[in-house]
Amino acid sequence: MSSAEFLSALSNLIGTRYVLQARQDIEPFCLDMRSRYLGQPLAVALPGTRAEVAELARLAQRFCVPLVPQGGNTSTCGAATPDASGRALVVGLRRLDRTIEVDAANNSMTLEAGVTLARAQQIAEEADRLFPLSLASEGSCQIGGNLATNAGGLAVLRYGTMRDLALGLEVVLPDGRVLNQLSGLRKDTSGLDLKHLFIGSEGQLGLITAATLKLFPRPRARATALVGVADAQTAIDWLGALRDRFADRLTTFEMMSADCLTLLRDYQGDKVPFIAPWTLLIELSDSDGQQALESALVEWLAEREMVDGVIAQSEGERLALWQLREDMSETQKRRGPSIKHDIGVPSSAIPAFLAQAGLALEQAFPGCSIMAFGHAGDGNLHYNVSFTRPRNADLFDDEERVNRIVYDVVYRLNGTLAAEHGIGQLKTHWLEAYKDPLALSLMRSLKTVLDPNGLMNPGKWLSGE
Ligand SMILES: Cc1cc2nc3c(=O)[nH]c(=O)nc-3n(C[C@H](O)[C@H](O)[C@H](O)COP(=O)(O)OP(=O)(O)OC[C@H]3O[C@@H](n4cnc5c(N)ncnc54)[C@H](O)[C@@H]3O)c2cc1C
Repeated sequence: MSSAEFLSALSNLIGTRYVLQARQDIEPFCLDMRSRYLGQPLAVALPGTRAEVAELARLAQRFCVPLVPQGGNTSTCGAATPDASGRALVVGLRRLDRTIEVDAANNSMTLEAGVTLARAQQIAEEADRLFPLSLASEGSCQIGGNLATNAGGLAVLRYGTMRDLALGLEVVLPDGRVLNQLSGLRKDTSGLDLKHLFIGSEGQLGLITAATLKLFPRPRARATALVGVADAQTAIDWLGALRDRFADRLTTFEMMSADCLTLLRDYQGDKVPFIAPWTLLIELSDSDGQQALESALVEWLAEREMVDGVIAQSEGERLALWQLREDMSETQKRRGPSIKHDIGVPSSAIPAFLAQAGLALEQAFPGCSIMAFGHAGDGNLHYNVSFTRPRNADLFDDEERVNRIVYDVVYRLNGTLAAEHGIGQLKTHWLEAYKDPLALSLMRSLKTVLDPNGLMNPGKWLSGE
């Protein structure tokens, strides 16, 4: 059976205009966010309903065509990019963008998988609720992609990752059967909870077509501070003390090194209020009591030794403080390339990680520059390494050595090499090197059960190629 026959059957199924084949039409789906991977698909399909996705999967089985699910294509590790064989069909989910149900009384909403994260937040807000997942890519990334990567973000400390926020999923399996587990239940002891198989599976086990997600009361009070501390250990001590004092009201605890703030100041001047050895962005939120919350934070900070600090006095000031943290990745990109890591360690081990990895890198690459920043409240740091020119010209020649040094320290401290961005194509061989072989082998056995012909997102880490 030929590709032409497949494409013709596909066009009959979803409509010719939704089967993209012209080079200029498929280009945006072929290149990953960081321009590291360029694929060549057979075509791009944009099905409009769950029934079309299911029929499409059946057709792909019949013609043995690999499928690459794609949401907003914001993956930073090439997870949604097809290989260069010209055989795979990219399945874009963007037309599945309907709201199925908002059940404010149950604090849940059910959305199709192609709804963007920003739209999901808006839908929640329209029902006077909060959907708390928040990422810098929220205008483009989709609920399906967030689930498939188990996305986290700026409020994981308080609300958890997508795994914690999903109540139920609807998934089209590789053979076209539909697993409907859409449910607003918070408790269900009737067997294994299969949704967890698909969360974090990076499109290798099936196509997520809808999800029921948790909602929360909207916070009506917020207190936000940007504070400088003398060292990383003080930062982590503060994290513990803030949790003791404010419990769940501590929503955000971000950490940035002095080099990060110096870089930001190079581009933004006085918008960066101070440079301290470590700068913390702390936010408390509550359902009411703005004045009391602000006073409590001011009082708590006054009792501590801080190098410097600013407390937001208005919504505008709050957003300006947040902007500094959100601008970090983009500003670093303007400065030049770096070898990036999204590592995670227990938050108590962050000072040890910074000390040990910093020392080992300095010994191997004297004078190297390290930008460390991220969601310290959940142990997840962006740890980006570069060299001064002219050495940085061939930066990626040293990538394997740099990664090995960083990941050795991470695993000594019981951490992970992928706390945020997943594995995709970028880290497959590192997963092989560091993941428990039994865990990896069990994951691949599950893949064989669900996708015996290996047609879902091939060439990524589950296929073991
Ligand atoms: C500026 C920026 C900031 C970011 N910040 C964060 C952050 O703070 N936290 C974080 O976790 N990530 C972050 N990311 C990474 C990225 O945005 C997330 O991984 C996001 O969740 C991916 O969603 P997407 O719709 O773009 O998925 P895509 O990139 O399209 O796909 C990602 C993976 O999911 C699969 N997939 C997509 N849709 C489906 C579906 N419906 N069914 C099955 N599989 C599917 C794909 O096959 C692929 O394997 C950031 C990225 C950028 C560019």
